[in-house]
Amino acid sequence: MKRLSAVVLAGFGLAVSSAGAAQDGFENVEIRVQEIAPGVAVLFGRGGNIGVSHGEDGTLVIDDQFAPLTEKIEAAVAELGATPVQSVVNTHWHLDHTGGNENFGKRGAKIFAHENVRKRLVVGAPESRWNIQPARKEALPVVTYDHGVTFHLNGDTIDVRFTGGGHTDGDSIVFWREKNVLHMGDLYFNITSYPFVDINSGGNAYDLIEALDLAIGLADDETMIIPGHGTMANKVDLVEYRDMVAESVSRVAELHDSGMSLEDAQAVRPLDDFGRGGGFIDADGFVGAIWASLKAENR
Ligand SMILES: [Zn+2]
Repeated sequence: MKRLSAVVLAGFGLAVSSAGAAQDGFENVEIRVQEIAPGVAVLFGRGGNIGVSHGEDGTLVIDDQFAPLTEKIEAAVAELGATPVQSVVNTHWHLDHTGGNENFGKRGAKIFAHENVRKRLVVGAPESRWNIQPARKEALPVVTYDHGVTFHLNGDTIDVRFTGGGHTDGDSIVFWREKNVLHMGDLYFNITSYPFVDINSGGNAYDLIEALDLAIGLADDETMIIPGHGTMANKVDLVEYRDMVAESVSRVAELHDSGMSLEDAQAVRPLDDFGRGGGFIDADGFVGAIWASLKAENR
């Protein structure tokens, strides 16, 4: 188990250290704005993609990237003709999605998240090698939910739904009903990286499949899908991703149940034909996370 957690931690570390290593480069980050429907936009910068609802009732953002980017994010929001950010939803607790919380909180924005997001931000992960400190008060969600919350804002009905987790134990997806826009948080990456199941944050590969099924159930052929990372996607992309995750789990479970060690299972390279790699999570990291998920299932 020691090695297992090392493998999984390595996955988390890549995500976090890429943030750390990039710290000096934040001044070079450009926030790219994509307007996808009236009153709905996506901001691409560094860290998790930001969904924006704006209009006569105010501005809501889904995730807020890293603290050094807050002013650039505010400038991008202003460029949309939107008023300053009034509400923030965190899809999960990772720092590349919540790093701006403290700044927005201090400016008076109300932060919403699943209760497990707040719990994890309160304690941080100081014992981990990244020494994640407990969040300051202003960075904490002031409204938490267990199943979800719905915003009636700017003429839209915007459902924030807890998925039961998967990437962490606090993942929400956000669905603009009328505009048919779906923000997936890190339950879905539209990049070549293998999926990220953060075991240390309560993630589980089986929950990930269920969360993806929930999202697919909301989507139709026209749904505009905002991934946690990567460019805009559609339902076909999401289904393909879900099938890749499910097939990966089934292959790794078979190796696991044959009595193989994790190291031997990784050496088989069971996921290579998916042609993924690079980015946050490599094949060994994903196999390790599935392995840990199998243990957690008490099969
Ligand atoms: Zn994440």
